[in-house]
Amino acid sequence: MSRADRVAARLAGHDLDLLLVTDLVNVRYLTGYTGTNGLAILGAQTRRFLTDFRYTEQAEAQVTAGFDRETAPRELRLGLADGWPSGPVRLGFEDDHLPVRALAALRETLPGRVELVPAGGLVEAERAIKEPEEIAAIRAAAALTDEIYGWVAGRGVVGRTERELAITLEHEMRLRGAEPAFASIVASGEHGAQPHAVPRDVPVARGVLVTVDIGARVDGYCSDCTRTWATGPLPDELAAIHAVVVAAEAAGVAAVRPGPTGREVDAVARDVVEAAGHGEHFGHGLGHGVGLEIHEAPRLAQTDETPLAAGHVVTVEPGVYVPGVGGARVEDLVLVTADGHEVLSGTTREHGVLA
Ligand code: ZN
Ligand code: ZN
Repeated sequence: MSRADRVAARLAGHDLDLLLVTDLVNVRYLTGYTGTNGLAILGAQTRRFLTDFRYTEQAEAQVTAGFDRETAPRELRLGLADGWPSGPVRLGFEDDHLPVRALAALRETLPGRVELVPAGGLVEAERAIKEPEEIAAIRAAAALTDEIYGWVAGRGVVGRTERELAITLEHEMRLRGAEPAFASIVASGEHGAQPHAVPRDVPVARGVLVTVDIGARVDGYCSDCTRTWATGPLPDELAAIHAVVVAAEAAGVAAVRPGPTGREVDAVARDVVEAAGHGEHFGHGLGHGVGLEIHEAPRLAQTDETPLAAGHVVTVEPGVYVPGVGGARVEDLVLVTADGHEVLSGTTREHGVLA
């Protein structure tokens, strides 16, 4: 079954006849189209793809066989005034993605018998389970991230500003044929207490913790990996923070297999952090799915009851952030396999010194 077939098979269970796919990542997943204006409609017998004049040729080359390609006005909803099956139609829409104004405009365009129904993340649910070719792309992106870490380690970090490190490693990523999957994080010293720190024009000092969080995008697919290094002998408090994060991460990774829910895997790592007295300093979830987007389903978090399944690709990334002192985070990219897991990040997570 094709991706579109699998999503279409989910519709009946949600009492929908058709699904309108407007999120461009979902459109890409279903059709292969990578342009910036396009939508798809699918159902048991329906495979429509609409774009405007600027992308007609690109769509010819990219959109997978089986979809009827249509050229519509740039405001694509205007191409949806007709082409619907006769009788009442329940049309699902992606309420996570469609702006309120676009929904109102769509209501004006569609025939009255076409009812718009919020459909949640039907395509996202399908995307969570990766196909072999998707895993290959994620694996390549993870290998490239390892390469960049090797490059950073070879040059050293002490005396370089956080911003210079972030810019140069992204440059290296691009030279190697990829692009950053997100804005790189380089946070040293007290700045490491911010989980999503923005790199500063401040040189990395000796004897502190420095956290680097980077990801590469290869063939559309992302990687995500965080390492925290000591830049020399550490005060006991920082060494303890780093050690507990390394231990929590290892425990979390060991718990990844088909069956447990995101909440249960989160709890395994969180227990290690809490036992060390740092529960209040670990204020985010343990991890997230990674694929065409850097954050996607499933989540490893206290609120997520999705059981892990073979084909999921998730991060495991506990952190401890102590205001005024510093922080550490360690993050691996992990593939859930039929009988356990495979860590896709190859860079060592040992408590190393990088000066
Ligand atoms: Zn990350
Ligand atoms: Zn992450």
